[in-house]
Amino acid sequence: MKGPAIGHSRVVAAAFRAACESPLVTTHLNTLARLELAEPSEVARWQERRLRRFVNRWATTVPYYLEHPEYLRSTTETAAVLDKETVRRASAAFVNSRVPARHVTTGGTGGRPLSLRISYSSFFSEWAHIAYVWSRAGISLGDPKITFRGSSLGTGFDGRPMMYQRTYNHVAVSPFHLSDRTFTELLTKIRDLRPVAIWGYPSSITPFALWVARTGPHPELARLRAVLLASEAALGWQLSLFREVFGAPPIRWYGQSEKVVFGAECPRLPGHYHVTPTYGVAQVVNNRITGSGMTNTAMPLLRYDTEDGGVLKQPGPVGSRCACGSPFAVLHDVAGRWDQSLVYGIDDEPISSAALNFHDEAFARFDRFQFRQDRRGEVELRVSTVGRVPEAAELEKARSLLQHRVGDRLVISVAIANADELLSRRGKILMIDQRYRPDEATFSAMPTQPG
Ligand SMILES: [Zn+2]
Repeated sequence: MKGPAIGHSRVVAAAFRAACESPLVTTHLNTLARLELAEPSEVARWQERRLRRFVNRWATTVPYYLEHPEYLRSTTETAAVLDKETVRRASAAFVNSRVPARHVTTGGTGGRPLSLRISYSSFFSEWAHIAYVWSRAGISLGDPKITFRGSSLGTGFDGRPMMYQRTYNHVAVSPFHLSDRTFTELLTKIRDLRPVAIWGYPSSITPFALWVARTGPHPELARLRAVLLASEAALGWQLSLFREVFGAPPIRWYGQSEKVVFGAECPRLPGHYHVTPTYGVAQVVNNRITGSGMTNTAMPLLRYDTEDGGVLKQPGPVGSRCACGSPFAVLHDVAGRWDQSLVYGIDDEPISSAALNFHDEAFARFDRFQFRQDRRGEVELRVSTVGRVPEAAELEKARSLLQHRVGDRLVISVAIANADELLSRRGKILMIDQRYRPDEATFSAMPTQPG
């Protein structure tokens, strides 16, 4: 589960600029607006035709499907499911070589990289679908924003705490300078910008939200209509915090680098994602989200197992719609299975990071936090606070709450960390800094082969 695959920042900026100005985004939005008015059964038929056309045009000459034509059949006629490991081992066999594309690398199974070809137009349609999510929250791509996103959106910050980027019409705040002083300066800087949205990683928005809770309300933030959350899981208390201090709903979306299924969070039912029919066909097979993408013509992936868990709710017969009015199918209980979301218990059993989710305000006292695992059955919560050292009693309270929550499968410890240590390379905090690999440990524990 990931946000859009971020390639080279200049390409990203160019695609964004094109998306803002191009009638093709309007076309996508118009198609989705038209389908939103249709009955669920019409949407399904439209999607079937669209997938058939996509398969005939782009997939039939792809080497892997020439050898395995069962994938080209309609989903009702075949049970074949494509797993990530097959694509990882034979990625070249999935390429439609006639389509100009960029190469991106993403995490595969067991942390081994997966090599993908993404068509140029697919980067573009990604923005069109993000524009759709934002538009449901009343935000358009070019609206003024405050952004907390690291350096992936363009030139570096060069030591500056924030900068205005005209392409995105936002003030981007460096995740390495999230301090009271920066936030005070930010308010001055946005007085003329009049931002209507905050966009970024939950972990980077959190220190700002805590500061606003302490010092606000601020009239400069009165126009906010949405908090647009990219690329990273948000915890329940963070969503509540954003909703409360910014007076605007958090809006999320679901996608993968492989570009097979896209979901736009329902504005009425948090955690429910409407599957956008223009992007891909979603199914849930063995409790896993499986999709046939229709935007990436350079590497068509059909009935591809994303390894994300989820539940798919198809809309009922004529007239039945979601509370928000959408006739599109819904994915809920979406759970990413990417490596850093797992920790390993005392018997090497994988435990979802959802087990470490917490709502207690004891944790909201820390500005940054991260879990780190170095050894089997042990997890360390690393925390930092801006401008003060956390008290021993706060740390112990957090530890005992967490320990109580995870029971006897994990031993929890808590440590104070330097805020900078909690940043990953692109300036976003990894929820779980996973340094332990159970398969390697098992391997090294085995007796060495003689000779
Ligand atoms: Zn809805």
